[in-house]
Amino acid sequence: MTGRFDLPEPDAFTRTYWDAAAEGRLLIRRCGACGRAHHYPREFCPHCWSEDVTWETASGRATLYTWSVVHRNDLPPFKDRAPYVAAVVELAEGPRMMTEIVGAGEPLGPLAGEGAGLSAGAELEVAFREGVPVFRAAPRG
Ligand SMILES: [Zn+2]
Repeated sequence: MTGRFDLPEPDAFTRTYWDAAAEGRLLIRRCGACGRAHHYPREFCPHCWSEDVTWETASGRATLYTWSVVHRNDLPPFKDRAPYVAAVVELAEGPRMMTEIVGAGEPLGPLAGEGAGLSAGAELEVAFREGVPVFRAAPRG
């Protein structure tokens, strides 16, 4: 145990996902039977139950679906990170994922203030903090 609640504990199936994330790639799963992508990764397609599901590198582009500013979370390291923005984003490939919206600068810190500037549908891009995918505002243009 790391004493932290924000880092993954990969198993035999999810190790591929976390290894890619550590290299800066976001993986999704796509079904060869119905063609739909899903996230989080499952061994069966959640849409049609086919086992013909393979890994695919996502574009890393997403739009903001919904979010909430978290002011209190006593679990480490969230306690020191609050306030932060917990969100659901919709990946360009279709699936929605739970994540955190971070500030645009480096290092990838919490988005300051009350989620300032966020709006539904905002264009986002994936970034990786300690091998965990988070999202930030996509550069304009
Ligand atoms: Zn399917």
